[in-house]
Amino acid sequence: MEYISTRNKSEKCSSAEAIVNGLAPDGGLYVPESLPRLKKEDFEELAKEDYPSRAARVLSLLLEDFTFEELLDYTTKAYSRFYGDDPCPLVNIDEGVYVLELWHGPTCAFKDMALTMLPHLLTAARKKIGEKDKTLIMVATSGDTGKAALEGFKDVEGTNIIVFYPSKGVSDMQKLQMKTQTGDNVCVCAIEGNFDDTQNAVKNIFADEEINKVIHANGFKLSSANSINWGRLAPQIAYYVSAYCDLIDEGRIEYGDKVNFCVPSGNFGNILAAYYAMQMGVGVNRLICASNVNHVLTDFFETGVYDINREFHKTISPSMDILISSNLERLLFEICGRDDKLIAQRMSDLKTKGRYEITERELEMLKALFSVGYADDEETKETIAFAMDEYGYLMDTHTAVAYGVYCDYEDETEDKTPTVVVSTANAYKFPADVYEAVGGEKIEDAFTATEKLHEVTGEEVPEPLNGLKDRPVRFEEVIDRSKIADKVVEYCKQAANA
Ligand SMILES: *Cc1c(COP(=O)(O)O)cnc(C)c1O
Repeated sequence: MEYISTRNKSEKCSSAEAIVNGLAPDGGLYVPESLPRLKKEDFEELAKEDYPSRAARVLSLLLEDFTFEELLDYTTKAYSRFYGDDPCPLVNIDEGVYVLELWHGPTCAFKDMALTMLPHLLTAARKKIGEKDKTLIMVATSGDTGKAALEGFKDVEGTNIIVFYPSKGVSDMQKLQMKTQTGDNVCVCAIEGNFDDTQNAVKNIFADEEINKVIHANGFKLSSANSINWGRLAPQIAYYVSAYCDLIDEGRIEYGDKVNFCVPSGNFGNILAAYYAMQMGVGVNRLICASNVNHVLTDFFETGVYDINREFHKTISPSMDILISSNLERLLFEICGRDDKLIAQRMSDLKTKGRYEITERELEMLKALFSVGYADDEETKETIAFAMDEYGYLMDTHTAVAYGVYCDYEDETEDKTPTVVVSTANAYKFPADVYEAVGGEKIEDAFTATEKLHEVTGEEVPEPLNGLKDRPVRFEEVIDRSKIADKVVEYCKQAANA
């Protein structure tokens, strides 16, 4: 099975090339030419296996350049870095409502599910296609991707990684996690501006031939660890398949039954993986896309107009403070009948006018599968308090956006389909806001908030967040976004001479 670009489907490449390139040469995103389908027997087999085996089986269908044994080696290594017995437990909090906890990894956010895998995939893929250059991973992050990528790639041979984050757009805990990052092949830099500014500046570097020449002259080739890389998306499909297997295995549903997935969305990568899992055979009733007040996705699914000409809000769910949801391009490609020219046109409109519009027919197709909703900060805090009071379940601000949107959905539709609410971060990643939500006073300092939150809830502080306070700060630089290119070139030169 080959991969094609959403903006030019006659350009084909292998899974290994798609992973190494990150973005297609025409600026489009790689998608599989066709999706493999899992049958009843496959689900029954998978249900008996542990997570690394399930993930390796799913990945072996998607990444044909890799053998099952290779993939099992990577999944075993990657998920051994997670704490607890199950890397992604499914917790039953209420009748027919399950929380899929994706944050048991090294940085306590769901991005670990893919970013502990990507370095293995990328390193192997480079060998497979005979790539001689070293890889420079460049990441724009709204908080969680950056740290998860740094943890995943630190000290991985043949790679260096440089991470840019908006200086005022991430939580204190996230910031400190990045500033204290260890590893000899890492660089972290803050940017004045919001996430979209940062992401755009980084995208422009990927597209800039001159800068790429300079980077190449220093022995590097740029690659992305952002969720546009297929090597990020593929491991995410696995946990939707796995959650479905868990429900079958526990006798909650039978094979073929449909479930809802409710996903807190930003760049649209996580929920897109649910869509692909559905295409591969997971029974899905509704995909519920949850946003915070930056609800460009909610509006899009309601009106068919994607419009970023609006105010940008900083919220208590910062990893969802995004106006340009890059992965939506992949869904649009499928919905419009894979019309690559049309996608190229719309993405060009998005760039120049900040908006595009889909047809009535496309909108109907989207509405047949997706439900949408958003929650503001106040509602999000109320949801955290409600879940704690009602079920003794402590959730983070992002998960609470999803759970709040699900509660509204259920009220409105009375849909009793079993629902998996996707939990994307541990509550201690956002301790001040969560502490306030459960009735505590406002506390600025993340560490004091962590202690207090532990006192009132009794919830364990996860190991990776414990002890962060005592780690030395290594990266303090804040630069203007116009200086990002200079910074990349400077780091390349430095890394080439190291
Ligand atoms: C990245 C992130 C999201 C958004 O996921 P997308 O794949 O970008 O839609 C939600 N919650 C948390 C905690 C995240 O880190």
